[in-house]
Amino acid sequence: LIPFVTWGMKKRLLFFLLLPLFAPAQRPIDVQHYRFEVELSDATDAINGTATLTVTFLKDAAQLELDLMKGSDEKGMYVFEAREESTRLRTQHNGSLLVLNLATPAKAGETRRFTIQYMGTPSDGLIISRNRHGDRTFFSDHWPNRAQAWLPCNDHPSDKASVEFVVTAPARYQVVSNGQRIEEKAIDGARKRTHWKETAPLSTKIMAMGAAPFAVRNYAPSEGGVPVSAWVYPQDSTALFFDYGAAPSILRFFADYIGAPFPFSKLANVQSTTIFGGMENAGAIFYAENAVTGKRGTEELIAHEIAHQWFGDAVSEKSFAHLWLSEGFATALANIYIGHRFGADSARRRREADREAVLRFVQTSNRPVVDSTEDLMSLLNANSYQKGGWVLFMLQQEVGDSLFRRILQTHYQRYRGGNADTRDFQAVVEEVCGRSFRTFFDQWLYRPGVPQLQIETKQEEGMARIRIRQAPPYYQLPIEIGIIGADGKMSLELLPLQGGEVEWKAKDRSVKRIVVDPNSRLLYRERKG
Ligand SMILES: [Zn+2]
Repeated sequence: LIPFVTWGMKKRLLFFLLLPLFAPAQRPIDVQHYRFEVELSDATDAINGTATLTVTFLKDAAQLELDLMKGSDEKGMYVFEAREESTRLRTQHNGSLLVLNLATPAKAGETRRFTIQYMGTPSDGLIISRNRHGDRTFFSDHWPNRAQAWLPCNDHPSDKASVEFVVTAPARYQVVSNGQRIEEKAIDGARKRTHWKETAPLSTKIMAMGAAPFAVRNYAPSEGGVPVSAWVYPQDSTALFFDYGAAPSILRFFADYIGAPFPFSKLANVQSTTIFGGMENAGAIFYAENAVTGKRGTEELIAHEIAHQWFGDAVSEKSFAHLWLSEGFATALANIYIGHRFGADSARRRREADREAVLRFVQTSNRPVVDSTEDLMSLLNANSYQKGGWVLFMLQQEVGDSLFRRILQTHYQRYRGGNADTRDFQAVVEEVCGRSFRTFFDQWLYRPGVPQLQIETKQEEGMARIRIRQAPPYYQLPIEIGIIGADGKMSLELLPLQGGEVEWKAKDRSVKRIVVDPNSRLLYRERKG
């Protein structure tokens, strides 16, 4: 996910959402499968829906609780029938809570199937609007828990399920979604039905459906045979078929770097009306409709969203408090791709810009990266993205590239299709490296701010000396210094800073100058005097 659009328009910030975006509670249920049948129309913004949910109860229960935004005034969803198999159930629907009263209580471990018929005009979650060319379009937009504005579901990132969308729409629309298209069929002169199915388990936040007049390009299959395509507005097709043409090689790069094939059966890159700059829906990435350059100027955005398919989608955070496991990973992996594609200097400049963003952010925020705030939109900040990315980069510096890649691979294999939190990831790091990373994780992820370093360099009797002090609470840091001799050449040395200060002195007069962190490998703020 990229919070806002910066291409060809002003930054569009996210303060206008209709839903109360509170951190959702976990329920003692595990949805196994969703089948969403939806009818879209040109005559009205109201939709008809039939949702079939296969649910495993984790505790004995007399009710099934789900999320669905109830109607108020002219918008919202109205349930007119709920059944378990063929038995009709009594329901209560208040605010965003839909309760189905079971005819016979469920036992822990039981799996049952429910069907909910409903209709209404979505207040959010499914954006029905005119796109930048004035054409009518329908795009879901779920992050963080806005799926419930139009779909009955357990809208929590830890409950992952397979999903199918069966969409009936006027024939002039093409419909794209997660997984594979298993049917596209004219059902009467003016309408068609399109059926998509994803068998890998997904969080609701990355389930997606888009219907629009699309031009579609299929790129040559990538090495692993994963079909990669672009779904764009016909008016933008020349520019966007070229821009999204970067996707197959980015996909190949990450499959190789992470050491695991692309997690889903296809990758569609979709121009859309998402409120975000980009949204990593599984196998159907939605990009802001104005993110068009025609010159591959959005490669970093595309890399970020493709990296999410492994981290954020296939492996996802247990709760939004650990959002950095999605956004920090995507940020770091996009930077790694930038380094591979455009060279180490480009990656370093990117990192330095990220560091500036972190330093600006921590001046106004006293929150750690692992952040259990209820205000989920506020998590789209420099802690989750740039600082999370920096933490992974510093981990890579600390353990070296080959162990770092083994960490990514192990974490991915262990939690693919499931969820992990920060301590789960720490345990993987410790297992792969065979030592404790408690201090590293605590200081960078559970403590607000960044190290504050006071740096003093001087010449004493022609001999160079450097002293670095830090303000408490102390970080344990390796600080790289560059030692520049009379010939202008730089040699590097690593100073371990454990407590309040560390010092380095030249042995003779050959050292002309000392610079701190010449390769931008440390996240810190320099404090003067
Ligand atoms: Zn992201």
